[in-house]
Amino acid sequence: MPDPNGTRKVVILGGGPAGLTAALYAARGNLEPLVIEGVEKGGPTGGQLMLTEEVENYPGFAEGTTGPELIEEMRDQAERFGTSYWTEDADEVDLSERPFRVVAGDREVFAQALIIATGARPRRLEVPGEDRLWGSGVSACATCDGFFFQDQDVVVVGGGDSAMEEATFLTKFASKVTVVHRRDNLRASKILQERAFKNDDVEFIWDAVVTEIHGDDRVTGVTLENTEPGDSLERTGETRELSCGGFFLAIGHIPNTSLFEGKLDMDDQGYLNVEHPSTKTNVPGVFASGDSVDNFYRQAVTAAGTGCRAAMDAEQFLSDAG
Ligand code: NAP
Repeated sequence: MPDPNGTRKVVILGGGPAGLTAALYAARGNLEPLVIEGVEKGGPTGGQLMLTEEVENYPGFAEGTTGPELIEEMRDQAERFGTSYWTEDADEVDLSERPFRVVAGDREVFAQALIIATGARPRRLEVPGEDRLWGSGVSACATCDGFFFQDQDVVVVGGGDSAMEEATFLTKFASKVTVVHRRDNLRASKILQERAFKNDDVEFIWDAVVTEIHGDDRVTGVTLENTEPGDSLERTGETRELSCGGFFLAIGHIPNTSLFEGKLDMDDQGYLNVEHPSTKTNVPGVFASGDSVDNFYRQAVTAAGTGCRAAMDAEQFLSDAG
């Protein structure tokens, strides 16, 4: 049983694939983990996968599944072996001594070992109109909001895999999808590029950035400014207007690690540093997994893999600590 004084063997921060896989392994190791799974800060409990409609590349689902279904299965599976959940955001952590203290809302808990799986959130452009029209035509999730843009023209900004995936997906609803990319070549994988290039409903505007999003109650268009041709991001001052009913951001992510600033080593983008190939952070007993560490692979299956490693590292740490 968990210690009645509120000390757990393992507390896991984050309820996405990394956190839930860590929970499954920790629970099966009799560590009775508590998952503080987080609430709506850039996405519902369950992390970014909750915003992913079709998941076709998670092994074991020959016909594919959806993000919410996959999360529900993972959550139930971890619960079956003794995981408990708090649906709250962790607000404060004290990692200066063990057991580590975690505050979430009006509750606190102490942890002999802590696993961080807080994920990442979509990056924003930070241009006029973006905040004001967020949810009124501005979105970072085509799979969640695409349906609302039937027969409208939409703009997707970005040149990576997400932008290609979102653009292609949005053609199911929109009359035309225009991808605006700040350079003249994409960083997306070839297969996703080709899929978008082949789609007659996807157009590309190269060497341009969005400088403003227009609309009173809903998005009506954007202002674009050209950048110098090629890989230069230097702006030319030449602008144009593009009308659209929807505007989708697909320009990468920011790790949810501000809680650990000054407490754990991280890189200049805020991704937590770990002792590869382990999940050990610079504080013994604190382990990090998933997108809070990974700025490259960012897949549900890679997040799940590091969650598994974090639980095994925590188990080893606790047995060594006696
Ligand atoms: P990403 O690869 O980091 O691409 C972000 C894109 O946004 C880049 O093209 C970047 O331009 C552009 N960008 C960044 N900041 C910008 C700004 N302020 N203004 C305009 N454009 C901006 O992010 P992602 O597409 O979200 O992918 C992240 C990771 O997840 C990748 O490793 C990707 O392979 C993976 N992923 C995989 C799949 C899949 O396999 N099905 C699907 C989605 C994502 P530059 O190119 O000029 O830097």
